[in-house]
Amino acid sequence: MSQQPHTSADAAAAVRQDFLHSFLLDPARHSPDAPAVVESPGAGRTTVTSYAQLTALTSQFADALTALDLEPGARVILEADAGAEAIALLLACSQAGLVFVPVSPQTPRPRLDLLLETVRPALHVQELNGSRSDLPRPLGTARFGPGGLTVERAPETGPPRRRTPCPTDPAYIIFTSGTTGRPKGVVMSHRAVVAFYRGMLAHGIAGPGDRIASTSPLQFDFSLLNIGLALGSGAAVVPVPPSLVRWPRHLLRVLRETGATQVNGVPSIWRQVLRHEPRRLAALTGLRGVLFCGEEFPLPELRHLQELLPAARIVNCYGATESMACSFADVPNPLPEGTERLSIGVAHPGAEILLVGADGRVIVEPGVPGEIHLRSPALFSGYWDDPEATAATLVPDPLCPQSGQRVLRSGDLAVRRPDGTYAFAGRTDSQVQINGNRVELGEVERRLADHPAATAAAALPLPLPGGGLQLAAFVVLAEDAPPAGAGDLRAFCAESLPSYMVPQEIRLVDRLPVTAHGKVDRAALAAQAAEDAGAAPDTADAAAGGAR
Ligand code: ADP
Repeated sequence: MSQQPHTSADAAAAVRQDFLHSFLLDPARHSPDAPAVVESPGAGRTTVTSYAQLTALTSQFADALTALDLEPGARVILEADAGAEAIALLLACSQAGLVFVPVSPQTPRPRLDLLLETVRPALHVQELNGSRSDLPRPLGTARFGPGGLTVERAPETGPPRRRTPCPTDPAYIIFTSGTTGRPKGVVMSHRAVVAFYRGMLAHGIAGPGDRIASTSPLQFDFSLLNIGLALGSGAAVVPVPPSLVRWPRHLLRVLRETGATQVNGVPSIWRQVLRHEPRRLAALTGLRGVLFCGEEFPLPELRHLQELLPAARIVNCYGATESMACSFADVPNPLPEGTERLSIGVAHPGAEILLVGADGRVIVEPGVPGEIHLRSPALFSGYWDDPEATAATLVPDPLCPQSGQRVLRSGDLAVRRPDGTYAFAGRTDSQVQINGNRVELGEVERRLADHPAATAAAALPLPLPGGGLQLAAFVVLAEDAPPAGAGDLRAFCAESLPSYMVPQEIRLVDRLPVTAHGKVDRAALAAQAAEDAGAAPDTADAAAGGAR
């Protein structure tokens, strides 16, 4: 059969577009001299990496990775904070057909060991000044910096069994909290993440000239959303160092010095800024956009933000790691009086939300709560090494189970509003968001119950007096156990859980109240805590609502 060279070249180019690196570094999307990454390494200093420099660094890293002769699909642990080099490295993994697994340098060692055991990576990469040592063989180890990638110890692997990366291969694995006490690895393919980026970019949230501050650490997929939004729009990403995000003055300084035009982050990054630095925030007249994700934005704080940034477009981004996100809805400015819940809009182009009742019935009437099921080309491939959890989340299409098509069962409740958009209405399970971080209460409870002095534990979110939620736990100690206090239990949690999963408050109790069904009565615990704090009863309802 004769081949049309231009047709096959076009076809090959189109396939290449479905890889993370080729999509984000597509020369058609940016001008080579435009800034791709803008950083603030210290007060009064900014560094700019252009698209041409980012592309060159990516290729340099990719060459070093390719020289290791690993097979497509081999995993690389990327233990770093976001920055131009870390971004180049994750793009280089994509270019070399390898799967990156972003991990925070603050990860407690037992948790890192668990991840290494679980994903059996070929290579661990950290920054030049990274402090991780004594990593077990056959894992290879390397360090990266502005000068390139230095392999300290080559991975001990067999000859590659495959050679050709496919867009259906995993691009990355993001670990989130897991109900069973083990973190859950969300495996996302190139094809899915690129489909998500295409749907997101259709919203026209950013354009060339924008500088998008990303306040999420690299190990959360929100940072990958931000990188995709920036690079996919020909704009620049401004990674804010995680240590500065919670310090209003530092955060505002970084935004000012880097010329940020948009800030993406979980709603809680704004709390201290609104309280302590409203004038400095209002002075940032170059800020044209805010995108938040991860949890509901408390409405009084949102109104305050709108007052201070009256010209900013504020976007409510809803969704879960399992599809990177689902929807982007503009928040009306000003928020109409009487608004009780924000709209999450409708699914991004190419995807569709379906609500399903507890009886399995598809809900078509407005106002009736149902569980969000998402049909989308951007769904994750499955949970790493967990077919059971995968089957419970990627379920047959409720409208046509015969088709073999899977949709994402989200665990989120929503109602359809008369205008066809959706409003978020809580969770069906005990997953909660604490400052935008996803926490399975079961994972925290298991860790607490592993303490030699504990016999039972219940975790739940409790409202903080100044707004927001904190993670609290109630623990029953064995009578004959050596004495242990709340501090010991917290330290025990911190040994193996990331800091956002360590309960800020631990109360020792004689017993845990139970419901008529014999389950731990979290509502009663929340009510008790509210009573102790002298809070109004509706605060207890709010706390229990997140932990049904
Ligand atoms: P992401 O990293 O994409 O924010 P996670 O996987 O950490 O998501 O958490 C997903 C969960 O967070 C959702 O299932 C939902 O319960 C909650 N969530 C995310 N975004 C929003 C939002 N805009 N409004 C309300 N809840 C949200």
